[in-house]
Parts: sequence; structure tokens; C-alpha cells
Amino acid sequence: MPGRRTLWRNLLPRNGRPRPAPSASPARTRSVPPLLTIEAVSKRFAAHHALRDVDLTVDSGEFIALLGPSGCGKTTLLRCIAGFLTPDEGRILIDGEDITRAPPYRRPLNTVFQSYALFPHMSVADNVAYGPRRAGVGRTEAQNRAREALALVGLEEMGGRLPRALSGGQQQRVALARAIVNRPKLLLLDEPLSALDLKLRRRMQIELKHIQEKLGIAFVFVTHDQEEAMAMADRIVVMNAGRVEQTGTPAAIYRAPTTRFVAEFVGEPNLLPLSPAGPGRARLAIGGFELPAAAAMRCAMVRPEDIVIVEGMPAADLVTFPGVIEEVLAIGPTTTLFVRCGEVVLKVARLGMSGADLTPGSAVTLGLRPAALHLIAE
Ligand code: ATP
Repeated sequence: MPGRRTLWRNLLPRNGRPRPAPSASPARTRSVPPLLTIEAVSKRFAAHHALRDVDLTVDSGEFIALLGPSGCGKTTLLRCIAGFLTPDEGRILIDGEDITRAPPYRRPLNTVFQSYALFPHMSVADNVAYGPRRAGVGRTEAQNRAREALALVGLEEMGGRLPRALSGGQQQRVALARAIVNRPKLLLLDEPLSALDLKLRRRMQIELKHIQEKLGIAFVFVTHDQEEAMAMADRIVVMNAGRVEQTGTPAAIYRAPTTRFVAEFVGEPNLLPLSPAGPGRARLAIGGFELPAAAAMRCAMVRPEDIVIVEGMPAADLVTFPGVIEEVLAIGPTTTLFVRCGEVVLKVARLGMSGADLTPGSAVTLGLRPAALHLIAE
């Protein structure tokens, strides 16, 4: 389950200003073309379909996370955008211009890889100045740009050091400085934090997000870590077997997944089966409450943190039903209770330690608000 604090940090307004809420397809609502447009892109490796009919638009300054399990096609899509691979079908446009077959160096973008790939014998400043120098920028100007890029990533004091004299997190920031020194319009990042230990990784997520906001450069960020995507992205693209399953804000992906795959990939939902309720109709019956649904709906999802253990009089808007605790799992700040309610076992998440009376075998009353139930079709 995504850490609730991490998730909500990204969803809440900052500095009292509401976050802009990017729509599922921003391009449709405006006349200027999106920064990046991916149109019906497919890519095969022999008989294997690595990408199938992928559509995506990215706006200037947007932070997009490509999220999905290993082998779903995230890196292949990134490599098509970067120009290291050519799609078999479809088009890729930047600012409305077709770049599907343009070589990588002709694209106004840069890539940060998982391995930092710094030149070990060059100082940090020279590593960063290398790109502008190769592009023909004079030595002094290149050094000035490198200094500015290093300041942006908080390493202005480290320019004289060799990469090996820096920590992993600092080296990754040098790699980032090197990628942004020429101010690309778009930065592609392929699991850039995966070599870092968990604590540093969490800190770098926040730093990277701040740097991205400060620069105003669009990021397309590949990750298989749902928490990372939730914490950083404006929109998440969930991929499965070469296809885009759903594109949406972190809140939409978490609260309103359109498929069972998305619901289960992001967090640990409770999926409640629906029963037939006449021609073309289905329903969920829970604690005397009935949720009607179209027959096409497969199940209703409720997140573990949306189910409460009722102590005393329940609030009027709660649907309540009895259960028996089967298992108690305390991990970090969250305790998950597995509660049997008839045929199903529900996960119930609580912050803090569970009470002494909440032990396996105890009878409890569970409650949920009907609005927390979300119907899923596929
Ligand atoms: P991971 O999270 O493990 O990096 P991914 O989502 O980035 O996975 P890709 O690297 O895009 O996945 O690979 C998608 C599929 O295409 C995989 O099944 C992979 O084995 C296959 N594939 C990728 N590159 C090649 C290649 N050059 N030749 C053959 N098959 C490839």
C-alpha cells in the first residue's frame, strides 16, 4: 500500500495554492500542441510485442511516471522517445513536429540512466561541462553553465572533486546536472534512483521533484515503484504487457482505477465480488446496504484504510457489518487486520498499533462509507 503520508503529500495543495490538476488528455483542451505526443506506437522484438498501440501526451513542465511491472515496456517506450529505438508503427512528435525517425542527438531532450555513467577521471564540473563543450560552447561559458547546473542540484561546492569522492546520491545529482545543463525541453529518466538505498531514495524523490519544479522541464520517469510514482508524478501512466492500462493523476489512479490490474498494482485493495441481480444488473450486498451495478461490472473496490473498526455508536453514514479477525500484521506505522466477513477476508488498515483487544479470533464490527466503494469493469 502506498504510504498514506507520501501519497497525500503529493495530493494536498502546497503553500495554500491548489495543485494544477492535469486532465487525462490535456492536449484536447488547448490549441497549442503538447510538448510530446505519442500516437499509436507499437514495437515488436521478433514475435514479442513490447509496445502495443501506445498513446500519450505530455505537457511542458509536466512530471509523468511510467509505472508497471518488469517487462511491461516502460524502457522500450522511453528508448523510442529518446530515439535509440524506432517504433514499427505510430508517430512521436515534439511540439507538433514529427521526430519518429530523427536521430537521438537531433531531439530536444536528454536521458538519465540508472547507472550514473560519469567519467571517473574528470572532475564533477568537467563531467557536467562535457555536453556543452561537445556542442561547441566555449570553455568559460561551458564552465559557467556547469556551475549553474550544479547549483540547481545543490552541488555547487563539489565541482572540483572526482566522482568517486561523492556519495551515490550526489553522483546521481551530478548525472542529473549533466542532463539538464543544456536545458532540454524534456528529460527522460530510466529508474534513476533504483541503485540508492531506501532512505536515500526517498530523500532523492523529494529533491528531484523540487528540482523539476524549479527547472520547469518536463520529466518522463520510469519506475516500477508505485510509491515513487505516487509521490512524484503529476500523472501516472500504468502499463501492462506493452499497453497503457490507465493514465491519470495519482489520486485518480489510486481512487478510481479503471481495471483490476491497476487497482491491484497500486496498493492492496479489497476487491468484493458482485452477484447477479436480474437481466443486465449486478449488485453488491454488504451489511444490509445494496450497491446496484451494471452487469458489465466485475467487482467493487474498497481501500483498506477506508474500512474502520466501529467502537461504540457508528456514525449515521456508515454501513456496518460483523467480522472476525483472522490475522494481525503490524508493519511500521500501519497495522493491517485481516477480517473474515462471511465468504470474504477484508484487509483493514489502521495507523498505529492495533488495540490489545484486536487479536485473532476477536469479533468486531466493521464500517465503511458507500462513497468509498468503487466499481471496476475489467
Ligand atoms: P524493467 O522494469 O524490467 O526494466 P520494462 O517495463 O522496462 O521492464 P522493457 O525493457 O521495455 O520492459 O521490455 C519489454 C519487453 O521487451 C520485455 O519482455 C523484454 O524482454 C523485451 N525486450 C526489450 N528489449 C529487447 C531487445 N532489444 N530484444 C528483444 N527483446 C527485448
